Amino acid sequence: MKTYIVGNWKLNFTVGEASIYLHKLLKTIPKYRDTEVVVAPSALALQPLSLQVDRHIIKLCAQNGFYRDYGAFTGEISFSQLRGLVDYAIVGHSERRYVLHEDDKMIAKKMAAAIRNRITPILCIGEIESERAFGETKDVIRDQLIGGLSEVSDDDLSKVIIAYEPVWAISSAKSARFATPDEVAEVVKIIRETLEETYGKKAAEGVPILFGGSVNPSNAGGYLTVPGVNGLLIGGASLILNEFADIIETAKRVRA
Ligand code: PEP
Repeated sequence: MKTYIVGNWKLNFTVGEASIYLHKLLKTIPKYRDTEVVVAPSALALQPLSLQVDRHIIKLCAQNGFYRDYGAFTGEISFSQLRGLVDYAIVGHSERRYVLHEDDKMIAKKMAAAIRNRITPILCIGEIESERAFGETKDVIRDQLIGGLSEVSDDDLSKVIIAYEPVWAISSAKSARFATPDEVAEVVKIIRETLEETYGKKAAEGVPILFGGSVNPSNAGGYLTVPGVNGLLIGGASLILNEFADIIETAKRVRA
């Protein structure tokens, strides 16, 4: 399986800044056959960047999309409009769950909409700090996973990526601390087992699972060697070109 290195730029960079960053990144990294490098700029930048990017080297990802393809939904952007511009889309990021109140039902519809528009959804799941403290991590992970995949058929599971992002480990969280590789391994095992129960062993084994939460050049190698982890979703460090390029280089090295 490929290794996925996904940079989530969130609400950062103007279109011009995004274009300059992409230009530099394209010049910095060679094409790595087994490493899929992906960046998720703001929606506004996707159209111009789709004309600029060399998709053999870097793929584009939407940070969000709406679950209906068209209609009276002021302000939304549909996956059908994103079709052709991006290869991937982040769905159910914790900032959308907790700041914008997206629930599993809406997230499930977005997963289905991405797939029907030939965009690979990256379903983000993860517990908040108090859920971990109360021993609820397993239940939360299972609920978010089963809920988020509820509209994904057996045949379509191979079109999905899962990202485990403990909310307490994301750099913008007030109490952010680094997750230990053991903590990550434990939850990745829960994800794989839950997929296996629902879709069978073979299908479950084929689903890439990424880790995200304050990943930087110093800890990336440790997370990439956790059993069952197939890549990283990176927020803050992906905004710094040298750091993101370092992480890509680490991925190539540790997973060669
Ligand atoms: C994220 O928000 O998806 C994320 C992983 O952010 P950071 O790397 O900054 O913790």
